Order: sequence, then C-alpha cells, then structure tokens
Amino acid sequence: MMVIMKDKITDLVAEIFEYLPKNRSGAPLAPINISKAIELYGLKAYDVDFKGQGISGAFDRSKMEIYVNSSDPYVIKIFTLAHELGHYLLHKDVKNDVLFREKGKHGREKIEREANTFAAELLMPEAAIKIYWPITENIQQLADKFSVSYVAMRNRLHQLGLI
Ligand SMILES: [Zn+2]
Repeated sequence: MMVIMKDKITDLVAEIFEYLPKNRSGAPLAPINISKAIELYGLKAYDVDFKGQGISGAFDRSKMEIYVNSSDPYVIKIFTLAHELGHYLLHKDVKNDVLFREKGKHGREKIEREANTFAAELLMPEAAIKIYWPITENIQQLADKFSVSYVAMRNRLHQLGLI
C-alpha cells in the first residue's frame, strides 16, 4: 500500500473518532459505534437477503446506501459496514461495490485491501487496543469487547506488533 493512502486512512479515522465517545485517556470507547460513524456522512444502512449468492455487503454511492447480508453474524455485519464506509471515503471513483465472502472474486485487490485497512483501524483503534490488550491478553475477549471477529482481532494485534 502506498504511504499516502495509509496516512489518509489514519487521518479519516481520527476525524471520525472526534465525534465518538472517548475514555479519560482520549482513546475511543469500545465497541466503536459504526452506525453513528455511517450517519456522520449521511449514509444509510440496510439488512438485505442476498439469497445465497455469497455476498457479505454492497454499496451504492448514488443512493448513499450500504447493504449488509441479513444472515451474516453480527461481527461480520459490523466489519462490512466499516469496509463499505471505507470505500465511500477513500475511493470517490467507486460508484458501486459488492463484497463477496470469498476473496479473489473482486478483481480490485488494492482498493479492497485499503477498505479493509480502514475498517480495521476504525473498529480496532490503536490507542484503545494498546490499553485493553495488556489487561486481558485474550484475543477472543478483546474481539468481543470491540465487536469484531477473532480473526480480525488477531490480525490487528499482529499488525500492531502485540502478538
Ligand atoms: Zn469492497
């Protein structure tokens, strides 16, 4: 990933955190209120039955709407919402997105990685993770606290050099 995009993601996420509740040390409170983050930009989110097409979510810029698979687990829905919000903010030329459960169907790996990085930074803020990880040192407990999947939290902890 280009350094410029990484900085842009960090700046955007910091901007969103300005509007979300924080603890005494200024770290965003867990779990991150993704609905509020989406409302900040005037987007609307809907649960949709994708009828077994292997789709986790979608995004329509012209309608300012995000769609999540109604049969996905809660933590997957949260990540999908954050992923699509990432497209909205980072990829202005992306008019529509369809997020498939299986990777490799998309053909746009770079922007998909960027949207996932955005989602990870938004849902698992570095400052908050660094406070809570030493308290539990339990990946599942931390995942539950931030409303993300075990795999997402493990990846984030690894990325932050904590495991
Ligand atoms: Zn996507």
